[in-house]
Amino acid sequence: MSKPMTPAWCLAASIATVLALAGCGRQAAPAAGGDASAATQQVNAQFAKDLKLDDPQDFEDAKRGLIARPSGKVMGADGNVLVDFDAFKFVDGPAPPTVNPSLWRHAILNAQIGLFKVTEGIWQLRGFDIANMTVIEGKSGWIVVDPLTCKESATAAIAFARQHLGDRPVSAIVFTHSHADHFGGVLGVVSAEDAKARKIPVIAPEGFMEEATSENVLVGVAMGRRSGYQFGKDLERSPKGMVDTGLGKGVAYGTFGILPPTQLVTKPTEEVVVDGVRIVFHNVPGAEAPAELTFSVPDRKAYGGAENLAQTMHNLLPVRGAKVRDSLRWSQYMEQALEQTADTEVYFGQHNWPIWGNARIREFITKQRDMYKYTHDQTVRLANAGLTPREIADTVKLPQSLQSSFGVRGYYGDLRHNVKAVYQLYLGAYDGNPANLNPLPPQESAKRLLALIGGADKAVAAAQAAYDQGDYRWAAELLNHAVFGQPDHKGAKELLARTYEQMAYMAEAATWRNSYLTAAAELRQGPPKKGIDRSGFLEMLSQTPVERFLEAMAAGLDGPAAEGKDLKINLVLSDTGESFVLWIENAVLHHKKAAPATDAHATLTLTKAIFVKMMAGTAGVKDTLLSDDLKIAGSKIDLVRFFTLIDKPAGTFAIVTK
Ligand SMILES: [Zn+2]
Repeated sequence: MSKPMTPAWCLAASIATVLALAGCGRQAAPAAGGDASAATQQVNAQFAKDLKLDDPQDFEDAKRGLIARPSGKVMGADGNVLVDFDAFKFVDGPAPPTVNPSLWRHAILNAQIGLFKVTEGIWQLRGFDIANMTVIEGKSGWIVVDPLTCKESATAAIAFARQHLGDRPVSAIVFTHSHADHFGGVLGVVSAEDAKARKIPVIAPEGFMEEATSENVLVGVAMGRRSGYQFGKDLERSPKGMVDTGLGKGVAYGTFGILPPTQLVTKPTEEVVVDGVRIVFHNVPGAEAPAELTFSVPDRKAYGGAENLAQTMHNLLPVRGAKVRDSLRWSQYMEQALEQTADTEVYFGQHNWPIWGNARIREFITKQRDMYKYTHDQTVRLANAGLTPREIADTVKLPQSLQSSFGVRGYYGDLRHNVKAVYQLYLGAYDGNPANLNPLPPQESAKRLLALIGGADKAVAAAQAAYDQGDYRWAAELLNHAVFGQPDHKGAKELLARTYEQMAYMAEAATWRNSYLTAAAELRQGPPKKGIDRSGFLEMLSQTPVERFLEAMAAGLDGPAAEGKDLKINLVLSDTGESFVLWIENAVLHHKKAAPATDAHATLTLTKAIFVKMMAGTAGVKDTLLSDDLKIAGSKIDLVRFFTLIDKPAGTFAIVTK
């Protein structure tokens, strides 16, 4: 890749659902961690005692209908391994002491990868990416539901399906929702030209395109950096490393694309005949995703739960960060799902494995409904009783009838994190205690606490005592102060890394395990050296409305540096015919869609493709300066002054170190 023309162009703009999956540049896999302590092994033994880990039903379901299992690797154009079908072969047999046995069980179930027959005319490809690709037999070809995250994994999956099921064309595409692991690979199953020429229906829920191309463009960099923690992207795959994500094995970080839908599902329930197959779509926006649908295939007595229904407690607020999700609405959709599955004989989701038999399906949905509603109602009850988020998280437990059901346990979401999300939705992140209205920043309070107790060594000694007793939460709290208060204290960092490892080894949620292990690695090695390479996102970014980039550009304006500046720039997109006036006023960058202003300091005329490359930071010298597609009128100096005011975050910021 050539160097960007002006680093100032490298905006924070990006697609969060993609970046949230993408994390940051891959580092060398960290060294294997320590062994599980006696205290950790004791906690894990208790899980094994409390749960029926050997219940065979889920294992039968996860293996049922296997036609073939892939092996080998899916490679990216740059020679990177995107999918390694054999990487998780070690996830088998009894749980090692370094993995929570309930998570290990879940990880084994997700390791059942391959092409599976779900029922007559419906198949799933699992383990080609973090999500499943579902294939439905149409009259003239394959109806593909959710073509994975990237072109490369989707190409491999559809080829595998054709190899075993027959070489038929793709006759329709269904996107269940606006998260990139469900649409980013679409160009791997059909090219844009072919889709257009053959008029292939592309069906999606209302609002799909807006959400898919724009969701959180603003905070993509922060979310991308944080997501590396929950997905454990840079961790080695091993019993002391990454074993699962909760939703599936791993994300394929290849080339992302999108196709605009040709048909939107806008009504609450809508029956559509897709390539001869009757499909009843149910709109379920604002729960798991802002635009989402589930669907029934009545003639197959089958129900596709998209991601509203997965074999895990889902996130009301992902560890990577997002807008809070509405658990009450989610549970209401589950109630509707019960009505929609009155005579369903097989449920399948776009993550994890299916369930067969009407009674079991309804029990599963009922428990999902009640898990979200219990979480909601009990959080509200305790908030009204005066408990604050951390207190609620330490208080709420699911009732035994739900706790004993694996399908609602926290492998991706976690109850302690989810109750904080419910509190936040209604009352905000502030707990009402004025001590928290204006507290010192973490590093400042850490320094003063260290001074008070007599230095970081004292904190480390106390933390070591807590560690030796298996009191890891307290050890981590003390050590976090020590690391923040005295960032060069190697002993504090190492003991905190070892503490996080123990917390990882006993974590039931894959997202927590991956977060703790990533934290341990960064305490030893520092934050990643390289941010996100956005070149794989260009196809998708080209579909993002210009306004989203301009909003992100405004949110990248260095406020203090812009104070007192008065600059006006015309932006003209020569190919789309759009033009915008951008101006700075009171250290705020505004934009409006309008004809070029006559009093602007400069006018920049370029194509949308070049604009997108500049926003993504991938435009090189050749692309820009030498391009006939870019023209500058007026003051070049003012134009440079303008873009110098826009921040260019690298996405490599420190999280657990200072
Ligand atoms: Zn997903």
